[in-house]
Parts: sequence; C-alpha cells; structure tokens
Amino acid sequence: HLLRSSESETSHDKLIGGLLKAGFDEGSCVSRYTTSLLYRKPSPYKPSPYLVSKLRRYEKLHKRCGPGTEAYKRATEQLDENQVRSSDKECRYVVWVATEYGLGNRIISLVSSFLYALLTDRVILVDQRKDISDLFCEPFPDTSWLLPLDFPLMGQIDSYYKEYSLCYGTMLKNHAINSTTTPPSHLYIHLLHDYRDVDKMFYCEANQAFIKSVPWLVVKSNLYFAPSLWLIPSFQTKLIKLFPQKDTVFHHLSRYLFHPTNQVWDMVTSTYNANLSKADEVLGLQIRVFSTPSGYFQHVMDQIVSCTQREKLLPELATNGSSHSQVMNTTRSKKLKAVLVASLHPEYSDELSKMFSERPSSTGEMIQVYQPSGERVQQTDEKLHDQKALADIYLLSLSVNIVTTERSTFGYVAHGLGGLKPWILYEPKNRKVPDPPCVRALSMEPCFIRAPLHGCQAKKIKTTPFIKHCENWNLGIKLV
Ligand code: GDP
Repeated sequence: HLLRSSESETSHDKLIGGLLKAGFDEGSCVSRYTTSLLYRKPSPYKPSPYLVSKLRRYEKLHKRCGPGTEAYKRATEQLDENQVRSSDKECRYVVWVATEYGLGNRIISLVSSFLYALLTDRVILVDQRKDISDLFCEPFPDTSWLLPLDFPLMGQIDSYYKEYSLCYGTMLKNHAINSTTTPPSHLYIHLLHDYRDVDKMFYCEANQAFIKSVPWLVVKSNLYFAPSLWLIPSFQTKLIKLFPQKDTVFHHLSRYLFHPTNQVWDMVTSTYNANLSKADEVLGLQIRVFSTPSGYFQHVMDQIVSCTQREKLLPELATNGSSHSQVMNTTRSKKLKAVLVASLHPEYSDELSKMFSERPSSTGEMIQVYQPSGERVQQTDEKLHDQKALADIYLLSLSVNIVTTERSTFGYVAHGLGGLKPWILYEPKNRKVPDPPCVRALSMEPCFIRAPLHGCQAKKIKTTPFIKHCENWNLGIKLV
C-alpha cells in the first residue's frame, strides 16, 4: 500500500498536479517530466480541475486543427481565397509572431496569447523562424505548435504593423467595421508597447464579437496582457473557474507550455548539480542594468547589498578582525547558501563573491556566489546566447528566494515560473541607490506595463479587487 501511494505521488509531481499529460516520449525532452520531480519543491499552487480538463480539451482541438491536418489545410485555403467559408468554422487560430524583442518579452506575450486562445477556443501556432525550437520542446501531444514555414501569409507577416489595412485598430480608426461588414479571413492584432487607443479596443467586450468571426488572428505583442483579459466580462466568468487563485495564471501556463530542449536542459542541470544542489538554500539574483551605457556601477552593487541585507536574504559581514574560523566556532549556523546571479555583466557576482570570501558573515553562514553566464551584450536570435538566457531564467526559477530588477520581463518569467514573489530592485535615478532599495512584490504575476487605462476598462481597473497597479509603476496593472 505504501509503495502504491508513493508511486501515485511521484506521478502526481511528475505531471505537476495533472497540468501535464502523461505519454510524451521522455528522452527527446528530458526536462518535461524531471523538472518538478527532481529539481523543484512541489508547488504550493495546484491547478484547478477545470484548468486541467480545459487543457485536455485544448490538446484535442490542437490535434484536430494543427499543422498537417485536413482542417488546417481547409483553414489556410480561406486565406488564399481571402474569405471566410461558412462551412469551415471548426478551427480558428492565433498566430503568435516572434518580434525583435528579447526572450522575456516573447515568453510573456506568448503566455498571454495562449490564454486568449484557450478562452476563445482557438489554436495557437508559433512563428518558428526565430530560435523557438532550439529553446522549447513541443508542449502539445501528437501534434505541433510550430507554424508551418509554408503558411500562406508567411511572406507578409513581418511587414504587418499599425498601418496595415487589416490591422484591427486601423480598421476601427477608418470606420471600416459596422454591423454588415463581412469578416475577413485574417486580422492583424497589434499589441506591442507602442499601440494606440484604437488598438486597445481589442480589450472591449463589444469588439470581441466581430473578432470571433475571423478564423485567423495574427498577433504581435511584447506585453503580458493577461490581466486585461480578466476585465472582459464574458472572459472573467471562465477565468474565475480556470484560476480560482487569480495570481497563478502565469505560473501554471508557463509550467504547462515551456519545457527546455535537451541542449538547454544540459546547461541547467550541469550548473545545478555542480553549484546549487549542495546548498541548503539558493538565492536568485537577477541584475539587469537598463541605463545607457549599461555595465558595472558601484551604486547598483551597493543597492544589491543594501536590499539583500535589509531583507535578510544575505547576512551582514562579521566585524573587522574576526576570522572565518572564529566566526564558525562561535555561531551555530553552518548553513551553505548559494547565490545564483543572472546578469549580462559578470562583475556583480565577482564583487559579491569577493566580499564574502574576504570576510566571514556575521551568522557563520557560508555564502557561495555563482554566475553561469556573463554575455555582456544582448544578442537576441543568436542560438547559443538565447539558450544561455533560457538556462539562466530556469536556474533562477529553481531558487527559494529571488531578487529581480524592476520592469525586466526576464525577471518576470523567472519568478512566475518559480512560483516566487520576488523582491524588486527599484530603478536607480541619478546614479544613486534608491531608498528603499527594493520592495516585495504584490504577487508572483508579471506586470502588464502598458495597460489600457483609459478605455472601456478604465472603471473596472479601479474597482476590481484582484487587479492592482504594479509596484512603483502606475501605468501598469497586475493580478494579485
Ligand atoms: P528585459 O529586456 O529585461 O525585459 O528582458 P528580455 O529577455 O526581453 O530581453 C533581454 C535579453 O538580454 C535576454 O533575452 C537575453 O538575451 C539578454 N539578457 C539580459 N539579462 C540576461 C541575463 O541575466 N543572462 C543572460 N544569459 N542573458 C541576459
């Protein structure tokens, strides 16, 4: 009996409480079933039974409508003919286009687009021309989420922008949609940070009816727009059932969708096994320097030390004169704490490491600092660079506590995936350490930094209890 219950517990952990489906080939994507089993503590957040059943139904839909099927073929024929066939309503799609922005931007917008697809019974297909398939395994069984390279609009989608005549916001601006308009076979949805008020009308309930009748939506976004989907009344009803714990949307969906490929997984596990597995506790530190020029700055270093000591994430140093062995003898704690640093700049971890090797900590804790990569400059779409970035994000997500940089989507993904409420380093002004240096986040959710504050959702943003303005960023909202 004992054996059986532990077996079922193992399978429960392996499938993250039913979030994942059993039966994928394990060798071709080792991370899928081993992350939660071997490298993470069980998440305190369980997916709801409704979310689990919704994902199983989604997987069936994706298999029926995905690339290579008759249904996909028929649906793409509508694009060639540029009209919607009334007989072919069964499969509708969201095409997520990889924009020029970094991995964090891509991941948060892909999660939002997938959530939109779930809510509207569409199938998500991802643009594979960038290195997405070097980073992630296929998330859905017996099918593919990759948009085929011969997709009829492939030659045009890079040029879609606000001016495009089938850009939804532009159609609204031109009054090109009324109750008699026949829906086109595709629409371009512009949800990038530079979008206009007309583009933000996408988030209005009344506008969703027309959009629903269009089989193909091509989306460009670099935002985490999930919070605004909660403010569309008909979506909210479904969302409350899917996510009774409202601040778990990114956490569950990112764990469901993103499984690093074996190449990335080797990077993650080799770092983990060599440097983190022996530690009693791991602190993740994500240091993104947005100033130009970027690089190593003393005030940023001071801010990191100030934040981590003030929040008791790292110990103070022992008073001058006491040696390592004296401190070790007089204090009981022999804890080993590993600090995992992710930054483009290797100097931060070098300094931190030096600090703790020259003088012992006042608590006797041993502090070991480790930084797997130090790429110096962003090189999005260089395969190895992006793989290292994903490995860093994943490693950060395995820590017990995490400190991230304000408004960095790279940090958002790490803490959301990890189920961690981060401490956020405020953005320094005038090269000074902000006071206070950091703040505890309201929730583990990413911030929607360009929320539609003034349109149809204005009132709801103010009155919905689970939507709050982001920490130190009033233009943004987040689920709490
Ligand atoms: P954001 O700009 O901080 O919102 O995050 P993005 O992920 O969208 O873009 C930053 C890009 O710079 C990343 O995708 C990486 O390519 C690179 N980068 C930034 N910080 C790090 C880091 O700590 N480690 C690694 N490996 N790459 C980083």
